Amino acid sequence: MMKVDRNSAKSTQRLILVSNRLPVALDRSDSGEWHITPSSGGLVTALAPILRKTRGLWIGWPGATAEGVDLEQLLAAYRYPLGSITLKAVTLTQDEVQHYYSGFSNETIWPLFHDLHSRCKFDPEDWLVYQAVNRKFAQAIIDNSDVDDYIWVHDYHLLLVARELHAIDPGRRAVFFLHTPFPSVDIYDKLPWRQQIMRALLEYDLIGFQTLRDRSNFIHCAESLTKGLYVNARKRLAVIQTPSRELRAGVFPISIDFREFSRLAATKEVVRRSIQLREDIPGCRIILGVDRMDYSKGISQRLKAFRNALERFEDLRCKVTLVQIIIPSRAHILEYQKLKAEVDGLISEINGQFAESGWVPVQYMFRSVDRAELAAYYRAADMALVTPLKDGMNLVAKEYCASNVDENGVLILSEFAGAAVQMRRNAMLVNPYDIEGVANTIYKAYNMGGAERKDRMRRLRNSIRRHGISWWASRFLQAANYTKQQSTIEVQFPQ
Ligand code: UDP
Repeated sequence: MMKVDRNSAKSTQRLILVSNRLPVALDRSDSGEWHITPSSGGLVTALAPILRKTRGLWIGWPGATAEGVDLEQLLAAYRYPLGSITLKAVTLTQDEVQHYYSGFSNETIWPLFHDLHSRCKFDPEDWLVYQAVNRKFAQAIIDNSDVDDYIWVHDYHLLLVARELHAIDPGRRAVFFLHTPFPSVDIYDKLPWRQQIMRALLEYDLIGFQTLRDRSNFIHCAESLTKGLYVNARKRLAVIQTPSRELRAGVFPISIDFREFSRLAATKEVVRRSIQLREDIPGCRIILGVDRMDYSKGISQRLKAFRNALERFEDLRCKVTLVQIIIPSRAHILEYQKLKAEVDGLISEINGQFAESGWVPVQYMFRSVDRAELAAYYRAADMALVTPLKDGMNLVAKEYCASNVDENGVLILSEFAGAAVQMRRNAMLVNPYDIEGVANTIYKAYNMGGAERKDRMRRLRNSIRRHGISWWASRFLQAANYTKQQSTIEVQFPQ
């Protein structure tokens, strides 16, 4: 059990949020005009009130490179609809995008931190540019903040920012949250720059992880690479003493805006669309998959499991349809192009093998869907198949439950998703590598009685309702001593 602040932040210290991407999308129309649209992630929702209250600042890359256009100016003139949040652009050149973003972030750290080191590219040029861009972010922080501002850096693109900040101004303090998993020593050790990255991480004042496993992995890696390290991990916040400084490491499982998803799922528009979706697939239960096109999501393994289920359990034929939504992602990277070809091939094989007049086993969409459409799919689906090979958290699993306002859906969840730690009792956990095991679980979920489905889904929803995105943000900021403790309540610390 732990104590958590129930009241909102009363601090007036300005919050400076730093992430690779700003919470906006920049697009250029055919006529050459730029359009800025706000993106609506959970992070924005959770932190917008604090950013607004403290006249905070969000620093990040706007996600586009533009020759001859001043993106900084473009953004400075933009009024963010969530209120007076100032957006500060860190602009990147094409070369920086290639080596820092596509290269080191997405072809080295991303696969390594997802235990897929055989997919890693270790390129010294990428490493040099990654360091330079982290320095650029640090300089943008220095240029746009005061010494007492509170600096919260996010995710694997920016592992070195505290080190780079200290190189410019040793008095600056920064905290960090890692959205991805942190790998075990055996995997982390493959990284040629493991020592430099570990030293840089130890320059943050607080590091937040998604699960206890991630934090333990980090501590083991730190211990194996750092002489004279003393760790007290018995406390909720582990205390790590290096020969020169002290920091803390905690566990803060990220979540979603539960209220927003359940509200959206109950709107007339979403109800209408979800009824339509069910009518379009008459007599069939809908099994839903929603993933970015990424090898960590286990999409190929999932398709093989679905095929295996159709092969072995004939009564599923014409009775279930897998609706697989895949959001295009990192399409310029070769590994992602190969994955798409593999997924396309598997889907056409399955449909070729099993389709009958009036029934297509896999319905596949390779595009983004808007939030109302997504909510309609979540609401219409009888099961969600969330089977990543490894995932920091997996928000789709939580969004599915929050949107399942009828409380009759079944969540099949990979034991290797961070979300499994909190949802293990009421989701059906699977090992995504175990094709027959996943197929058996699909069949079990298909045959699960209404009372059990309701009971499991109700418990899942209650847990997400209690531990939503605002809970996550306030717990992190409290651990970072940003929020003042006012009154406390006892809550179960998710194991
Ligand atoms: N999502 C999206 N566009 C879509 C469909 C889904 O942005 O067309 C969102 C979805 O609502 C979820 C996120 O993408 O919030 C996926 O998060 P998750 O943690 O599951 O995986 P990630 O892509 O971050 O690895």
